[in-house]
Formats: sequence, structure tokens, C-alpha cells
Amino acid sequence: MKNLIRSLLIFSSLFSSFSIFSQSGNSNLPDSLFQGRSEVYFTFILADKADIHTLTRVISIDNVKGNVVQAYASKKEFSDFLQYNLDYKILPHPGTLLSAAELSRSNVNRPGNALTQWDFYPTYQQYLDYMAGFAGSHPDICRLDTVGTSIQGRLILTLRISQNISVEEAEPQFLYTSSLHGDEVTGYILMMHLIDYLLANYGTDPTVTNLINTTEICINPLANPDGTYRGGNNSVYGAVRYNANNIDLNRNFRDPKLGDHPDGNPWQPETIAWMDYADNNHFNMSANFHGGAEVFNYPWDTWPRLAADDNWWQLVGREWADTVHQHSPSGYFTFMNNGITNGYAWYEINGGRQDYMNYWHNCREVTVEISDIKILPVNQLLSYWDYNYRSFLNFIKESHYGFNGLVTDTVTDLPVAAKVFIQGHDKDFSEVYSRGTTGFYARPIYEGQYNVTFSAPGYYTKTIKNVSVSNWATTILNVQLRPLTYDAQDKTMNSVIVYPNPSDGHFRLILPEHPINPSCSIQVINTLGAVVYSSDINRFSGNSTVEIDVPGLPEGLYYLRFNSGYRIYIDKLVIKR
Ligand SMILES: [Zn+2]
Repeated sequence: MKNLIRSLLIFSSLFSSFSIFSQSGNSNLPDSLFQGRSEVYFTFILADKADIHTLTRVISIDNVKGNVVQAYASKKEFSDFLQYNLDYKILPHPGTLLSAAELSRSNVNRPGNALTQWDFYPTYQQYLDYMAGFAGSHPDICRLDTVGTSIQGRLILTLRISQNISVEEAEPQFLYTSSLHGDEVTGYILMMHLIDYLLANYGTDPTVTNLINTTEICINPLANPDGTYRGGNNSVYGAVRYNANNIDLNRNFRDPKLGDHPDGNPWQPETIAWMDYADNNHFNMSANFHGGAEVFNYPWDTWPRLAADDNWWQLVGREWADTVHQHSPSGYFTFMNNGITNGYAWYEINGGRQDYMNYWHNCREVTVEISDIKILPVNQLLSYWDYNYRSFLNFIKESHYGFNGLVTDTVTDLPVAAKVFIQGHDKDFSEVYSRGTTGFYARPIYEGQYNVTFSAPGYYTKTIKNVSVSNWATTILNVQLRPLTYDAQDKTMNSVIVYPNPSDGHFRLILPEHPINPSCSIQVINTLGAVVYSSDINRFSGNSTVEIDVPGLPEGLYYLRFNSGYRIYIDKLVIKR
């Protein structure tokens, strides 16, 4: 009771200027509260700051400053919240602060028009037209992906931008995504602007050209279209935080601490679409744009322990914020530690996409809260672009720094999907993997010396010691792994000796074992895996040196496969005339 009286006093002094509807200390849900709305935005004061860890699983906390909390709730969540008997004050919903007229602009230019200025909120149809228009007008470097479909049938789209767009290349995969909270739309427009900027400057601006040539950049401006267009397809007026099932998507992901369904809800269609998209890609780095604060929020959100790469997160966070500060009025992007914070140090959330991507997908995803005002007036959008676009580009560049390279098979030179683990450093799935398709891996990391172990099923593990990394620089580290079944590459063991090599098609072999098994054989295999020469070893019985003549083979690389009956030896064979 003492606490309650104290909090009432603090509460009334803090909020006495609010003249809107309020209710305090009442555990009954007011009937009128959810009439005509699917979610409420409200504020309350924590008597004990530790209560945040309970309440974050009851309602969707949006911001915490000292003991003052701002939060959203659906009808069900708000009923649960009322059981805690906390005083609260209903706030105007951020999606209705500006009128539809204030959020629109009459003379919007159409796709393909170089004069398009990103100082407006498109209608849903315009958004689709722009996204399709970008891909259509730049087919060589741009492709439109459908991540999935929302509950109400709207499209979740990603524009993929890279040189040789139809080919998966050995390069970092990078993702920008915005507005998973439907009423936080500054990032939506800034990402449309970024797409336009990248495409328009490709081939002329060296930074942009280089990023597109060396990175696979995926940009999703609108992650929760049902939330953003909750008020109708013609305006972002009436945008809400939640999806059409009144569920916060950024609490609906698999959580490192709580596991599946941390919010007690089934996976939402939008969540499933994002989880599938993450499965089908191999994102090295990512940022997830929100609004309502101005801060670079890095892992973890769900628990207090620090990320393995905490020093790297602070480095790139500072780079982001400091760059913004050089190009914005004082006071912008200065929340928490002058614009950066560890997520949990701000407030705990469970089921967020950031932790999901970091923990379950070995990605480096950050949550960037980009504007205090969730739906900026249209005449401020270009200013926010100018504050931030350099940081957008810098963060993509960071995906190239640290060490990276290719992991390939010593025998076939084909790519290997390997785990890249740093001894004494990696934890909580901070290790990275090379892609089976290209063998490429990327390991952003703070400068230092690292012992790196490469491992893959079917291969001998290899550790490279003292890999040296500098900040804002790339150390290339290509690694070959030796298959467990192929011993020929191990110089400490007997192997097939081929000479001369290269040869003109006539060469000798010294066999490593005396052929006593009737199943002994020699094959020559081309790089497509086809056997182009085969011989039964009995022809050579009694002699460990054999001569082979393959005069008809075209020049090129081949593999020689000797099966002694006990062991398979493979070595490279080059024909050159
Ligand atoms: Zn948010």
C-alpha cells in the first residue's frame, strides 16, 4: 500500500499535464477502451524496476526511461496487465497523431522517375508499384523476393540488390528490414529511399558501386504491412504495432532463453515467413529498424550476459551513432549511451527478431530505433535520411571486415559447408558457417589475434593459429579441408605417386599398397564426376609401378582414384599437351 501511494504521488506529478482519458488502480477492463481499436498505447510507473522482467511477458513494452514505461497491449494483454493493479494512463496511439491529410503528399512521382523524393508515405499500391518498378528497371542488379503473405493477404517483399543477381556469389549477404512494428514507419521510407539511392548511383558512385558488386544486399522496407496499413491501404494513418491477429511480431520469434512461443502465441504467418526466409538465406549481417526511441540496440535482449562480440558491437554501434551525430542536429540519436545500448541493459524483451537471428542463424542483427516520433511528419523524412544514410552504407561495409574467405575440399576444390569457430571466443552460437553453395564465410570481429578452427562432417578439422585482424580491414583466410576418406593428400601417409604430372596422357603410377585384393581398381574421373578411364588392377598384378595411357582425353584437370580394396586414394591429375 505504501508503494502504491508513493507511486500514485509520483505518477500524478509526472503526468499531471496529460488531459486525456485515464484510469488508475482499477483491475476491471473499461468497456469503452477497446471500442474501435485493436490495441492501446499507455504508460505506467514501475515501483520496482525488476518488475519489468515479469511485465515484458504480459504486455508489449515499447520504451523504458528510468521507472516510466510506455507499452502497447491488445485487449487480452491489457486484461492481464490490470491484474497487477498498477496505475496507468492511456496515451494517444502513435498511429493517429497526425491526420491522413498531414501524412499524404499530392504530387507523388511514379516509379522510374528520377525526381522521386522520398518525403511521403506511399499508399500500399504505390509501395507495390515502386518495389516492382525498381526490379523491372534494374533487372541486372535487382530482384524482387516475396518473403511471404500477411494474414490479410498483403505481400512481404524484399528487394535483392547485387551484381550478377541471378548467381549466388562468394560475398556477404546483408539484410535491412523495417517496420515489424507497423506504426514505426520512418525506417519504411528510409529503406525505400536507400533502394532508390543504391540503384540510381550504381555505376557512378564508387562506394555504392563497390557495395553492390561485392555484397548481396536485401532490403525489406515493410515487414508487417497489415499493421502499417491497418487504417486502410491509402494511408499509414491508423497504423498499429501488431499484426492483424493483434500479436506483436517482435515478441513472437523463437527465443534463446525461453525457446518456442515465448509469448504464448502460435507462430504468426509473418513470423513463419521470416523464419523460412532466414532458413533459405545465409545472412551474415542485418539491421531491423524500429521507432519510438533513437538508439542502436545490440544483443542480447533476452538475457544479461554479453554477446561474444560485445566489443565489436560497441565498435560498429559507435561508428553508426558518431557518424549520425556529425550530420544531425544536437540531441538526435543520443539515447542511453549517447546512441548505443546493450538491449537487456535498456529493458528485457523475449521473442524478438534480433536475438532470434543472432542465436539461431549465426547472424549479426541489430535493432536500430531510428526516430523518437514513430510516424514522422512528411517534411522531416528527407532530413532523417540525411542524418542516417552514411551509417546505412557503413554498416553494409562492416559485413566485409574481420576475416572471410572460402572453405573448399582439398581434393575436388569444391565448396564445403564448414563451421568456423574461434577458440576461447565464440559462445551462444556466435560462430559462423561457410555456405555449401560457394564455400564463402564472413566473420566480422573486433581487431586482435584469433585461433580459428574449421570443421565439417566428413573432413579433418583444421585450426589456423594467430589469424590477425584489424578494425575496418579485411583479412582473407581461404582454407582447404581434407576429406576423411581420401588419404592421398596427407603427405605423412603413403599415397599414389603420379609422374609426370602434368602429363600428355601417358604417365606412371607408384601404388601405395601392393594390390592383393581382386577389387583393386584405377579410375580417372573428370571434374563433372564422370569416369573417363577405368582399369582392373589385375592387369598390373605383381608390380607396384604401372603405366597408363589415355591419349584421347582432352586437356584439363582430372582426379585419379585408386581403390586398393582397403582404402581409396584420390589425387589430382593434369593433362596438358
Ligand atoms: Zn518497435
